[in-house]
Amino acid sequence: MTQTPAHQQTSAHQHPALTATDPELAALVTAEERLQADTLRLIPSENYVSTAVLEASGTVLQNKYSEGYPGRRYYEGQQNIDQVERLAVARAKALFGTDHANVQPYSGSPANLAVYLAFAEPGDTVMGMALPMGGHLTHGWGVSATGKWFRGVQYAVRQDTGLVDFDAVRELALKERPKLIFCGGTALPRTIDFAAFAEIARESGAVLVADIAHIAGLVAGGAHPSPVPYADVISTTTHKTLRGPRGAMLLAREEHAKAIDKAVFPGLQGGPHNQTTAAIAVALHEAAQPSFRSYAHAVVANAKALAEALLARGFDLVSGGTDNHLVLMDLTSKDVPGKVAAKALDRAGIVVNYNTVPYDPRKPFDPSGVRIGTPSLTSRGLGTEHMAAVADWIDRGVRAAGTGDEDALLKIRGEVAELMTAFPAPGLPTA
Ligand SMILES: *Cc1c(COP(=O)(O)O)cnc(C)c1O
Repeated sequence: MTQTPAHQQTSAHQHPALTATDPELAALVTAEERLQADTLRLIPSENYVSTAVLEASGTVLQNKYSEGYPGRRYYEGQQNIDQVERLAVARAKALFGTDHANVQPYSGSPANLAVYLAFAEPGDTVMGMALPMGGHLTHGWGVSATGKWFRGVQYAVRQDTGLVDFDAVRELALKERPKLIFCGGTALPRTIDFAAFAEIARESGAVLVADIAHIAGLVAGGAHPSPVPYADVISTTTHKTLRGPRGAMLLAREEHAKAIDKAVFPGLQGGPHNQTTAAIAVALHEAAQPSFRSYAHAVVANAKALAEALLARGFDLVSGGTDNHLVLMDLTSKDVPGKVAAKALDRAGIVVNYNTVPYDPRKPFDPSGVRIGTPSLTSRGLGTEHMAAVADWIDRGVRAAGTGDEDALLKIRGEVAELMTAFPAPGLPTA
């Protein structure tokens, strides 16, 4: 029996109860499934979770309240929930090799806020990479609560190399004596030197927080060095390269376990999202398999091949390339603003996000760069042999953006959809 291709399936096929109750919403879900099936998704913080992760996150665990921690809850009826959370915690500790794991943070931003609550007082100085350099809002940037309630000081990358300037980081840390130093970010194409940050944190008396939201899957799969020997606390989302549900974890040595748990609950949150905890447990189980190591290394190999192919087509890349899953393109020399390129590529079926580049002369809402990454396409099974085609589409798309050639964009969209048909996405209705 042959199955109906994804693009021909109706919502009734996949979501019978939802379609019966709320056809309007069901149609939107089906449309999103089709979009995720037909497009080349290059946003580096996105991925495709497995069907197993999707199933776990859509269970009756949703119905249960369980404030507290396993064995120490404020509600009864935790016979199964306690085991779910214990399983997730044990798998997180085993996968990353840490003493302690808290799997309750609702997402990456609340996880980071819990770190502030655990280690700092309002008004304290905290240090992180500046947002326009590739840092995250929650590393003390002004518009974030972390920059309003704490005194954020920011470090940068060098303009000539695009790499972290560790002399400047040390100088700033010794001058400002921050309580927390964050390393990691959202637009960093290079390996994070955790040892160098740890030395500076030690010299300046700061708690080192490694925010590996983007690269957690690479760390778990052995495709990026681990921060575990160096960082006091590790914060990560579970939904980026780690390929789990939308959620987060805080990992730490035993000495910080109490402070972190207290900060997450009752400090910041109420009941944990048990369906998410379950899906995190499943994702961690998947991440412990040999196939996940292959995936993590393939993500990096694909990103390197894509970077090479883009360089060969005359694109400027921040830092000249990549060590990880992410490539930051500076379109200044192409004379196409990042947002114009991103919107045109979207019409061409290639989903990216516009992004600032270090020392960007343009505004954050209209910057010079486009940020791309390879986790999603790797999860679909594309390999290095496909990266020349991907670079070609991006090249043609950016050129069509410059000339306003909508026909060229539509043509690319068709070519993209055709290739993607051959690579069914995990978690989506299959052809
Ligand atoms: C994505 C990200 C976060 C925030 O995660 P959300 O789940 O979107 O709140 C925090 N830090 C870094 C470095 C990230 O990339």
